[in-house]
Amino acid sequence: MFFKIDSFALIGIEAIKVNVEIHISNGMPSFTIVGLPDKSINEARDRVKASIINSGFKFPMKKIIINLSPADLRKEGSFYDLPIALAILALSGQISSDFFNCSSFIGELSLDGGLDPVKGILSMTQKAAEIKKKYFFIPESNINEAALIKDISIIGCKNLKNCIEILKNKNEIDKYVYKNFEFKNDNLNKFDIDFSEIKGQYRAKRAMEIAVSGMHNILLIGPPGSGKSMLAQRAITIMPDLNFDESIEVTKIYSLIKRKKYELITKRPYRNPHHTISETGLIGGGVYPKPGEISLAHRGILFLDEFSEFSSKHSEALRQPLENKSIAITRNNLSYRFPCSFMLILAMNPCFCGYYGDESRKCKCSMREIERYWKKISGPILDRIDMQIKIPRLKEELFLKNKDIENSSTIKERVKKAFLIQSERYKGKEINYNSEAGPEYINNWINQDKDLKKILADFSKKALMTARGISSLIKISRTIADLEGANEISADHAIEAFQYKISNII
Ligand SMILES: [Zn+2]
Repeated sequence: MFFKIDSFALIGIEAIKVNVEIHISNGMPSFTIVGLPDKSINEARDRVKASIINSGFKFPMKKIIINLSPADLRKEGSFYDLPIALAILALSGQISSDFFNCSSFIGELSLDGGLDPVKGILSMTQKAAEIKKKYFFIPESNINEAALIKDISIIGCKNLKNCIEILKNKNEIDKYVYKNFEFKNDNLNKFDIDFSEIKGQYRAKRAMEIAVSGMHNILLIGPPGSGKSMLAQRAITIMPDLNFDESIEVTKIYSLIKRKKYELITKRPYRNPHHTISETGLIGGGVYPKPGEISLAHRGILFLDEFSEFSSKHSEALRQPLENKSIAITRNNLSYRFPCSFMLILAMNPCFCGYYGDESRKCKCSMREIERYWKKISGPILDRIDMQIKIPRLKEELFLKNKDIENSSTIKERVKKAFLIQSERYKGKEINYNSEAGPEYINNWINQDKDLKKILADFSKKALMTARGISSLIKISRTIADLEGANEISADHAIEAFQYKISNII
């Protein structure tokens, strides 16, 4: 006797179909599961057995073999409790339903038959819709997330018994389909912090507006207490809201980690890991690869404070994801991919003691120490940071005479316009923002203007800029022009952009 139920496994952010196959024969009673790692097999067996009995059914005293195929794929054991229990009950003749073929099932059972949420439900639901399943039976607490996907009917079940009742109810199944979801983007993103709380620092605020507008990575250099973190935290408040597709992308990643509530994420993420974080925590990985901070910051901001304290291993590991906007982790010959398109904000002191260049406090470092300090962070990673800005400590009188300070929503409107210009420019292309533009764009932007070319040549000579440095200078100029609504980059735009280059700072 053989029976089969469809379920899913996760590889990175993608779900793939898994067949839960069952064979029952007469013989010494046994319950074998093939295709799961050893430890979770025992746990799954105990949970399934207990929940079948505690839901008022009989556990067949026969030889039961469950095979989860493809067998060589490493799976998380708890996902398959529900389909395994249903397969046992169906093949032992205790339940029957017309819906097994057109449905997929997922869910972890507790000993009393209750259904607990699983991770990655959004990717699985997308896959279920893609393979044209009509219904997807899932734990009730996963429902807000799953219902985001159209073209498939989601049925949330409280427990095993409830799932079976719905399956048996031939004519009324559609009344159990969850329909209550609606995407609203009417200023969902309210923050309890605001740009207007930053007094003075006009240059830094202008730089941050430009950086966010073109999604340029930025380095903030300043002594302790200059407000670097304050500025970084508030950058998220001037980013335009996520659209529905972006929200889905972000939620898919968060769906892979344990959360209090499984539902749509509408706020852009802001991640601020400490420098003691492990490489796996930052980049992603583990036995069952999980997204790291770089992926949890997807479509938002990754802020690394005290960047000089991060190990060189960390900054080396950031290089590839910064280029590719996604990270691939290989385990057991499988490649787990996680997207990681984020804006990177780095902050650091100008030297070991923190006060190099400060007006009111003397730096205690020797020139050699300062050089050593900078050597530690310079090189490949610094080359990938479009903008650098020095943030001085403010004098007290500046704090006092501040009245007309712009708030985040005013700045956000300007950023929104710049985003819109870029989305038109890169329509149908793989990129979204000026910071991602390649030479095919950059060359076109400067080809028309002789003055501009001359200025750029002067800059590169004066500041010994690399080719990458010049490209990023042009990209920042493009963003400044976009903020102004200008079609062409002018010399003025380039001159402003040059202020945000490292060679101008140290
Ligand atoms: Zn110093």
